[in-house]
Amino acid sequence: LALTDPDWLMRDTFCMWCRDSGLSVTVDRVGNIFARRQGTEDLRPVMVGSHLDTQVAGGRYDGALGVLTGLEIVRWLQDQGAVTRHPVEIVSWSNEEGARFRPPMLGSAVFAGALPLDRALATTDDAGMSFGAELERIGYAGVVPVPGAAPSAYFEFHIEQDDILEQRGADLGVVTSAFPVRGMAIRFEGETAHAGSTPMSRRRDALVGAAEVVAALPTLAERHGDQARASTTRMDVWPGCTGIIPSEVVLTVDFRHPQDDALAEMTGQLDRIIQRACERRGLGATTESVWEFGSGLAFDRELAAVVRRWAQRLGVETIDMASVAGHDAYWLATIAPAQIVFVPCVGGVTHNEHEDIDYARVLRSANVLAAAVLDAAR
Ligand SMILES: [Zn+2]
Repeated sequence: LALTDPDWLMRDTFCMWCRDSGLSVTVDRVGNIFARRQGTEDLRPVMVGSHLDTQVAGGRYDGALGVLTGLEIVRWLQDQGAVTRHPVEIVSWSNEEGARFRPPMLGSAVFAGALPLDRALATTDDAGMSFGAELERIGYAGVVPVPGAAPSAYFEFHIEQDDILEQRGADLGVVTSAFPVRGMAIRFEGETAHAGSTPMSRRRDALVGAAEVVAALPTLAERHGDQARASTTRMDVWPGCTGIIPSEVVLTVDFRHPQDDALAEMTGQLDRIIQRACERRGLGATTESVWEFGSGLAFDRELAAVVRRWAQRLGVETIDMASVAGHDAYWLATIAPAQIVFVPCVGGVTHNEHEDIDYARVLRSANVLAAAVLDAAR
C-alpha cells in the first residue's frame, strides 16, 4: 500500500536499481519518482512508467510490470549504447490505487495539475495519517516542483485486467479510449437506538437503507447492457457496535459506462433508488462526487500508430481496446501525447493475489514497447 514501510523498501530498491543502471533519480513534491537516461539534446523526455503501489489483496503485476518494463527498456538502451535525442525517463507514480489514500491516481493527477498539491498532501488514511506526513516519514517528499513539465510522450505498459486479449489470441492491446468513471460517497443518516428494546416500526436504521441500495446496484447495471458497471467497494458503519442500531453509513460507489449519457442515466436511477430507500426507512441521504475521470479522453493517434507499426514489424498481433480501469496515463493524456499498451493477464484475474502473466506473450509486447520508446526518443 502507498507510503507504508513495504512501499518505502520497494521505492529504495527501485531507486537503487536505477542508480546502478547509471540513471539519475529525482523525486517530486508528491513522491513521484523519475529515473532519467540523458539524451543528446535538451529536449523534453520520453516517459515510460506506471505505479509500484498495489491493492490490499492485489497481485504482482498491476502497475509494477509497467515500471520494471521501463527499467528493462532503459537497461537495454544502455547495453546497446543507444543514442537518443530525447532523454528517456522511467516514472513511478505515487498512490495510483487509492487503496490507502483517496483519490486514486493521486500522484499523476498532481503532476498533471488536475489536483492541487496541498489537497493531495492533506488527504488522510483510515488511521488519520496524512499523505504529506507519511511521505515525509518514508523520505520521499521530494523537491521537484509540481505540476510537472509535460513529457514529449508518455507510454504506460499495463496488464489488461480482463481476458479480451487472451480470448482473441492477441498479445498487445492498443488503448484508444477510456470508460468514464464516477466515484461517489453516499451518506445515510438515521438514528441510533437499542437493538433489543426498540420495535422494528420505530427504527431509522441507516444500515438497512444502505444495504437496500447496495443490493439494487447489480440490477441497475444490468439494465444498461453488459458494459455497465455499478459497484459498492466500501461501507463505513457508525457506531458499528454490538447492541446499537447504526445511525450513519457511508457507501463508496463506483459507476462506469463507455457512454457519458448512459452513465448520467445510471446516476439518475441511483438517486431514485436512494430516495425510495430513505422514504421506506425514515432516513436522510446526501451524495458527494469524490472522483471523476475518463470522460472524453483521447489517447495519441501518432503514438498508437508507432506502437502498431513496431508490432507489425515484430510479428505481434494487436487489437484496439477501451480501458475500463483507471490509469495514470489518463492524467498524462491531458498534458502530453500518451499511449497505454495492454498485455494479457491470465484469465483476466486482477486485484487478486493470483494475478499472473504468460511471460513469453508479455515479452513479445515488451519488445514492441522498447522499439516504440526508442522510436519516440530519437
Ligand atoms: Zn494499475
